[in-house]
Amino acid sequence: MNNYFDAKIETMSADQLRELQLKLLNTQLKQAGKAPAYRGLLPDSIPHIEDIQDIPFTTKEDLKNHFPYGFLAVPRTTIARFNASSGTTGIPTLAYFSEKDLDAMSQRAMMHLTMAGLKRGDIVQSMLGTGLFVGGWYHNNAAFHMGATVLPTGTGNTLRQIELLKQLKATFCFTTSGYAQYLLSRLTEADIEHIQLHTILIGAEPLPTTFYAFAKKHYHVELYGSYGMTECGGPVAHECCCHTGLHLAEHQFYVEIVDLKTGKPVKDGTFGELIITPLCQEAFPLIRYRTRDITRILPGTCPCGRTHRRIDTNIYRQDDMMIINGVNIFPSQIEACIYKSLPVATNYLIRVQETNGLKRLHIDIELPADMMANQPLQAQLEQDITLYLKAYITVTPTLHFVPIGTLPAVSGKALRLQKES
Ligand code: ADP
Ligand code: ZN
Repeated sequence: MNNYFDAKIETMSADQLRELQLKLLNTQLKQAGKAPAYRGLLPDSIPHIEDIQDIPFTTKEDLKNHFPYGFLAVPRTTIARFNASSGTTGIPTLAYFSEKDLDAMSQRAMMHLTMAGLKRGDIVQSMLGTGLFVGGWYHNNAAFHMGATVLPTGTGNTLRQIELLKQLKATFCFTTSGYAQYLLSRLTEADIEHIQLHTILIGAEPLPTTFYAFAKKHYHVELYGSYGMTECGGPVAHECCCHTGLHLAEHQFYVEIVDLKTGKPVKDGTFGELIITPLCQEAFPLIRYRTRDITRILPGTCPCGRTHRRIDTNIYRQDDMMIINGVNIFPSQIEACIYKSLPVATNYLIRVQETNGLKRLHIDIELPADMMANQPLQAQLEQDITLYLKAYITVTPTLHFVPIGTLPAVSGKALRLQKES
């Protein structure tokens, strides 16, 4: 089942899509020119979409330097809502949206939920915060506009979340990737029997694809990923039922992948930094925004019939990169190795210990009581996970298995990395 939200938009030819993007970009360049930070710096229009490469990037530093209203391109009174990023690896970034921007955001979110199969009558337990965090707002609004019933439980309070899942029988849930793991790690066999959850929409942080099959097998839930960010108005790319990467909402974004050092475009299939130009953002227009996220465009087409290009589900934050004895490592690569061996969802923490310039990696992994009592199983797990880590990322960390509840609880985005010296 394709689950198109708007088949005309989702299946338009690549030529039509580029033509639409050029038209929107030329309008957007004029709109961005109204913001003090861009005044006099942008061309009025460009003849070909590729000519965007001649326009300078906009960075997080630029946003900071022009805080708070340097990127405002409408009268202040036209701002309908402020949102701010979570500040996961730095200072939270403020963004603002007009009513029109919020409508566009809502349309993209509905496209995302439709792709994941949300239907009128579904009960959605939304474990996303609202407040300044943009994710809860657009997910919840989109769900009730589609005729679903929203139960906005917010972040954390896991025992209560599980009780409500059992009592009100939500079929869908919205959460961050880290909290999805945490929630599943807290479900007992009896809980699994009494809930009717069949789909979890995840996002906001990485989740290895190894976890998808795993969640289906052990918890009977299908995961649908998404990628987005506050500055670009929330939802940007979403997973369809084929699970072949995340389709970019190309009717509202122009996306480039560039080499980290040269800033020049890389070929499809090659990893580089994701550069996003929102094409319909009137209050907070950004041109060629450097996301500091690393991923790649997946070549080829998707069997679902959508023509919008896909990015790899493997998305790495440059700010999360660890250099361990000369090797570049991202936490999510470690996570992928953990789930190749582990038969249960877990909560884990990576500790980087530095003594005399030498870094050692420790990974604490929570296990349920029956597995904590099973020494041979732990020895086997240790052997398997170590082998995968050595093979895939050429490091040999020390593993520590700890009982459930030992590590800091996760509510929204999980903090996986701890630096010790
Ligand atoms: P931040 O977490 O940087 O404070 P946001 O709350 O706006 O800012 O979240 C956006 C960031 O979250 C992205 O830049 C990216 O690093 C991360 N992110 C969002 N979705 C995904 C995903 N599906 N996979 C990996 N990382 C993601
Ligand atoms: Zn698809």
